[in-house]
Formats: sequence, C-alpha cells, structure tokens
Amino acid sequence: MPEKQKKLDLAVRGALWFGPLKADSKGGKAKKGGQPPKGQLVDVLVARGKIVALTPAGSLDLRATHEVEAHGLVLLPSLTDVHVHFREPGQEYKEDIASGLSAAAHGGFANLMCMANTKPVNDNASVTEFMLEQARKSWPQGPRLFPIGALTKGLKGEELAPMAELKAAGCQAFSNDGRPVANTELFRRAVEYAQDLSRIVIDHCEDPFLAPAAGMNEGVVSSRLGLPAQPDVAEAIQVARDVLLAEYLHAPMHLAHISCEKSVALIRFAKARGVDVTAETCPHYLTLTEDEAGGFSALAKVSPPLRAREDVEALLAALADGTIDMLATDHAPHAAHEKEVEFDEAPCGISGLDTALATTWELVRSGRLPFGAFLRAWTTAPCKRFGLPVNAFNPGDSADFVLFDQDESWTVDAETMHSKSKNTPLLGRTLRGRVAAHFLAGKSVLGTAPAGA
Ligand SMILES: [Zn+2]
Repeated sequence: MPEKQKKLDLAVRGALWFGPLKADSKGGKAKKGGQPPKGQLVDVLVARGKIVALTPAGSLDLRATHEVEAHGLVLLPSLTDVHVHFREPGQEYKEDIASGLSAAAHGGFANLMCMANTKPVNDNASVTEFMLEQARKSWPQGPRLFPIGALTKGLKGEELAPMAELKAAGCQAFSNDGRPVANTELFRRAVEYAQDLSRIVIDHCEDPFLAPAAGMNEGVVSSRLGLPAQPDVAEAIQVARDVLLAEYLHAPMHLAHISCEKSVALIRFAKARGVDVTAETCPHYLTLTEDEAGGFSALAKVSPPLRAREDVEALLAALADGTIDMLATDHAPHAAHEKEVEFDEAPCGISGLDTALATTWELVRSGRLPFGAFLRAWTTAPCKRFGLPVNAFNPGDSADFVLFDQDESWTVDAETMHSKSKNTPLLGRTLRGRVAAHFLAGKSVLGTAPAGA
C-alpha cells in the first residue's frame, strides 16, 4: 500500500523557481525591491492532483507517469483574480463564460471571481446557478468560477438583494461593482448583513456625483483634450467613507481597483488603526498613466481612470509593502464597435486576462516589484481573504501551476488574445513572457479544447 501511494502522476523537471524552498525558508532573507530576483532549478512532484513535493532539481529519484522537462521555464502557482466581468448571461457577444475561462486558462489563472453586472443582474439564485453550470460545462477541469452576488436588487442601490439566497446558491462575496451605492445607510445594512453571512463586501469606490464613469482622470491631459473628467478625490472620498464604516461596524471590507495615491494613504491609515480592510489594484494602474488617453483613444477609457505618474509610483510602493494586498484584472471586455466611437460615448473597461501576467512579471523582472509581493498579490492574499483554494507548493495543495516562458515575445492582437474582446490600450504592442503550460489539479488545461466547444 505505501508503495502505491508514492506513485506519481506528474513530475515537472528543471523549472526555474524564485521563491524559497521549505527547507531553506528560514535562512532566506526577504529580497528588497530594486533588483531582479535570482532563481534555482526545481522539480515539482504531483500525485492524485496534489503537490507531493517541490525540491531542488534532481534531488528525489521518483519516476512519474507523465514526465515534463521544463528546461528552465519559470514556475509559478496559478494566479487568482477576484475581479472579472464575463458578460454571461446577456452580453455574450463581448465575452461568455467559456471564452472568459479560456482567456483565464491561457493567462495563468485558476480562480476567477465574477462580478454581478450581467443581464439580468446576478441578484437571485437562478442566475448564480446558471453561471456555475456554464462554467462546469465549458471547463470541467477549471479554471474555477466563483460568482459574486449583487448587493442590491438590479444593482439599483435601492433595496438589498436576497443575500442569504445568493450565498446558498454559491456566491463567494457581494458587490455593487460598476454602480456604487450612494446611500450610506443602505450600504451599512448591506455590510452588516454580509458579515452575518460570513461574506465580504467588495466596494467600487467612486462618489456617484463626481463625474461618474468619466473614464478620464481630471488633470493635464483632460484639460488639454477638453473632455469631462473625474478627479481622484471621487475615489478617495468613498474610500474614506468605507474604512470609517468598516471600523465602526467591526466588519471586513474589500476595496476594488484602487487607482490613486490619496486612496493608498487612507488605506494605510485604516490598517494602522487595525481596520479589517483589504484592497486590490490592477495591472493597468501600475503600468499606464493618463497619457494613454492623450490621443482620444477610448481603449484607454476605464473606470476608475488611468491616473498620473505619482499615483503609479504610490501604488507600486503600496503593493510592495502590503498596504495594497492583491492584484485583480477588472477584466472588462467590450466589442470593437463599442470602443470605436467618440471617447465620451465609449464604455469604460479594459480586457485584462490575456496580458496581466506578462505586464506584472515585467515589474518583477525590472526589480520594481519584489517577487514575494508579486506572489502574495496574485495568489495567497486573494485566496486567504475570500476562502479560495491556493497552491503554496505545500504537500497536499492542489497542483495548480504555470510554466511561464519569460523570454517569449508576442504581440497583443486579435490572434494572440483568447478573450472575445480585444479592448486594451496594449493592442499592437509587444510584450515579453507567455504561459507555456498550465496545470490544474495536475492536469494540463492548455492545448485541450474545452468540452462542448
Ligand atoms: Zn469591475
């Protein structure tokens, strides 16, 4: 019997790993930013979909049914994204659950939390159950979909959604993302009710009266173009409300897509006071500025808007020191014809799943983001906060991991993107780094067509 249990299903040999190994984790000093990480070659051993060991290459002489030579490809645990929009039901021409999960699988993501602004809105159990069923049918091996329930009926901000029903149907969190709740009394009740259900409210922080969804930062670029724009205080005012409320209620809160320095300062203040608040930012707020919109390009129109250079620097520092806990894409697909209109008529949103890993890995490679912070932000922090499965390469963890070719160059275009929608300001640009292989529970999810496709 013990002989049988040792039988390995999968062994990946000679992958490049930048994190500590369990054996030397006590000796390894945390790397400061400013220099690219140094890695070592490792083997990953898997049995029955679970991690058996992560060891220095060649140190354990066990053979597996499937042997994979990694030839120095970078090993990463699969990423988790707590903020995507998959548009199904209702707007499948932009993205459906199958195509969204395809972009996720190719982008290196294992877990996806999907926002409620579908048509109809995910404010009742039948919508939640439908989404889960579509995910199971199209990608039975994963990536895994975790729906987020609406906070208010129809996202209208008038009446609470049936949150207990939504939780029972499988909703992992609650949010009015896209249509922030202006009524603080109603928002307070929603937060308290979610807490009773052991679920966290994710808030899209935006004062709904200060140029809502302008998609353009109020600053030098907006004044030059003469476009309606939103000041950063529209976000920060709502962050202030939320952290004060979370402290007052002793309730947990998660703040979505933080985009500016003022919000970072408020979150830092709240954490220093012991408030149970977590926050995410997105790859585009770390890598792009308001200048992207300088040519009236609606592909750079996103809510909250791309901000100033100082905001990018503040967000990078906050992600490195843990003030910002995690990364999320806010993957918001739109069809080409919807973005090929005047800037102020275009919808907000960037399609992010295809490019997130390459653009954030570039920050690690250039030494601007420590590897430990990258790993925390894409894996352990979101999983811990929302109770999702995580692979920390401990024995027994689900064998969800990526082999990443950090040297492969590729051009972002309609051919290379797996999302149905190609709305990204990176369109036509060349990125470095692509997912070469992706295993979920020890099984390859790339190169195998999803069932039913
Ligand atoms: Zn969103």
